[in-house]
Amino acid sequence: MPKKLNLIGHKYGRLTVLSEDGKNSSGKIKWKCLCVCGNTHSTTGNGLRTGSTQSCGCLEIEVLQKRNFKHGDAARGKVSRLNNIWCNAKARATCKSGTRDYDNYAGRGITWPKEWNEYEPFKKWALSNGYKSNLTLERKDNDLPYSESNCIWANNSTQMLNQRRSIKNKLTKSEINEIKKRHSIGVTEGRLSIDFNVSRPSIKKIIKGYYDE
Ligand SMILES: [Zn+2]
Repeated sequence: MPKKLNLIGHKYGRLTVLSEDGKNSSGKIKWKCLCVCGNTHSTTGNGLRTGSTQSCGCLEIEVLQKRNFKHGDAARGKVSRLNNIWCNAKARATCKSGTRDYDNYAGRGITWPKEWNEYEPFKKWALSNGYKSNLTLERKDNDLPYSESNCIWANNSTQMLNQRRSIKNKLTKSEINEIKKRHSIGVTEGRLSIDFNVSRPSIKKIIKGYYDE
């Protein structure tokens, strides 16, 4: 009997092997892998070693999108940028636990709406809600999920204004001062984030004086 291979820790394309994951229908060991996009995916060692499986499936989607882009119409520049925005935002907000994006998004309730799981409905919303090639997708309230009502197309200055507004709706001036005071006497950003129910990045900005008048 051949020596059993241990693939844990090995990298194949976008995948890093995490652990064994049972067997497939023909009795081959499956390996659970973490994809660079944050998804996990199980496949056989053969698929990994021959290079036939290199991602959770996100690579194939990208290749497909590039191909569609090549055959796109005159507006293809726009289509591609918008498609990238959709792809990136969705990937961040649907990351599995154990990734940094998970802590920053799904882990604190910033989820992705099922209405936008497919690109077409997202594109339709974008084009009828002010999408332009110089604007980025932002959430009006940084602590709420992606959704038709919480998302806008913004340039840098509206983005900052919205972040400010969201904090100022949430905290009074004396609370902002209290956060700064507690931080100055050694209370950690993590503790402040929990006590005041404000995200870590927002706590950082408060400490830097970003929300001062
Ligand atoms: Zn992936």
